[in-house]
Amino acid sequence: MPAKSVKKRGTKVAAPDEIVFKCRFCEKSKPLDEMVVITKYFPPVVLCRDCEKKVQ
Ligand SMILES: [Zn+2]
Repeated sequence: MPAKSVKKRGTKVAAPDEIVFKCRFCEKSKPLDEMVVITKYFPPVVLCRDCEKKVQ
């Protein structure tokens, strides 16, 4: 008999303002405030501010 999956109660999903993005360069996940979208590339590249300075 297969074990029934336990329903998780009261587990809150992350608030929308806690969304993190992964830097394409250093692969660290950082909040949106720390990210820069480089739109001169297609598809646009998401980098953190530190890496943006390195690639510019
Ligand atoms: Zn980075």
